Amino acid sequence: MTVSVALFTQDLRLHDNPVLHAASRAADQVVPLFVLDPAVEAVGFAASNRQAFLAECLADLDASLRRIGARLVVRRGDPAGQAARVAAEAGADTVHVAAGVSAFARRREARLRERLGGRLHVHDGVLTVLPPGLVTPAGRDHYAVFTPYHRAWQQAPRRSVLGAPRKLSTPDGIDGVALPTAKPVSPALPEGGETAARELRRRWDIDSYADLHDALAADGTSRLSPYLHFGCLSANELAALASKHGGEGAAGFVRQLAWRDFHHQVLAARPDAAHQDYRTREDRWHRDEREATAWREGRTGYPIVDAGMRQLAHEGWMHNRARLLTASFLVKTLHQDWRIGAAHFLELLVDGDLANNQLNWQWVAGTGTDTRPNRVLNPLRQADRYDPDGAYVRRWVPELAHLPGLSIHRPWLLAPDYPAPLIAPEDLSARLRTARALD
Ligand code: FAD
Repeated sequence: MTVSVALFTQDLRLHDNPVLHAASRAADQVVPLFVLDPAVEAVGFAASNRQAFLAECLADLDASLRRIGARLVVRRGDPAGQAARVAAEAGADTVHVAAGVSAFARRREARLRERLGGRLHVHDGVLTVLPPGLVTPAGRDHYAVFTPYHRAWQQAPRRSVLGAPRKLSTPDGIDGVALPTAKPVSPALPEGGETAARELRRRWDIDSYADLHDALAADGTSRLSPYLHFGCLSANELAALASKHGGEGAAGFVRQLAWRDFHHQVLAARPDAAHQDYRTREDRWHRDEREATAWREGRTGYPIVDAGMRQLAHEGWMHNRARLLTASFLVKTLHQDWRIGAAHFLELLVDGDLANNQLNWQWVAGTGTDTRPNRVLNPLRQADRYDPDGAYVRRWVPELAHLPGLSIHRPWLLAPDYPAPLIAPEDLSARLRTARALD
């Protein structure tokens, strides 16, 4: 009887999973393994919202594996040491794992290789549609601008979508720790796991995406981001399904998956961009803890910014348009360091992802890949355009719900009890006028 190990990381699914597929092809029996790594906590990435979501993902993965005759083995410790130990206990010839993009994932892979040598098989294209580095501009190791990347991305060959295994058997006698449990800080987190992800994908109306993706109150985006972050859904499968479906909504959705791949290939080539400016502009950031706290707590005095921050606290998720304008407010209006904002988002986001979060923050800050680094989003114009009847603010800032029409975006006129704006509206216009590009 031959045995292999499938080491799960950010690929917590049965469908379209090259790691599980290769492990099951390689041997008669498979040990599906997940290692709870204390180092993730040590580097501060184990935010409680994501830990709670992860716990549900693992429980769902175990239940799905049991339905096909296998089970999930959970261990705690260094993934390389634990994978080597499980391989020895099970007499496994091969260990399969997905290639990661962060410096953390690269170090884990190096330790796995040290322990396992040629028995380790690292699979590309598990976390993204295209593996980082598959398309590159001449003479460079990654694309620094999205538009040419997107063009190349659309033309690149894709791997075919893999089905879920129908039957799998796990050897007896390989024990593990109990499935983890964790309490989120946000009261309205989505349910974790591949089952919930596939159900949400089936229910979501992709055709409405073209019209609704920027409408804050309509909530018309897919909300699949946490499932993509933990790999409960395969980006490759989503892209294939959307392309088959066709239409403007599906094309817009696939473009966002290309953005996701874009940020992953930037981080893979420049792991330091998780913490350092991708393109430094010698910014001198303004430090003001009172203002940063008001921003975090949704008390900036600009209801559209406050609504986004309160949605984040409540759901562990925020609409993309709100992420853009709350981030722009912190870095371009209050001139605070993007790392302050990125850290707060990572503390709460259930989809908090090093590639997507840090590089989107850098994009907004003008230190990243935006070709118009001086772009500033005027919160009032954004509010009027993307929350034209104030319904998004009414939902998240109920104390202003009585204000009629667009006056909800300017509470200083009619609601004197609401926090005074951190930047007076007249100064806001002056600050924005100094910027070269306005949206
Ligand atoms: P949809 O609009 O349905 O898009 C489908 C998928 O495409 C998303 O699930 C996501 O995986 C990907 N995607 C969409 N927009 C982007 C984008 N701009 N960049 C990269 N991928 C994208 N996304 C994260 O997954 N994790 C983060 O930590 C994160 N932090 C962000 C921080 C800031 C400041 C900004 C401006 C954006 C951030 N995003 C992040 C990107 C984006 O806001 C979210 O992916 C999106 O809002 C998730 O909602 P959705 O699944 O409904 O997206």
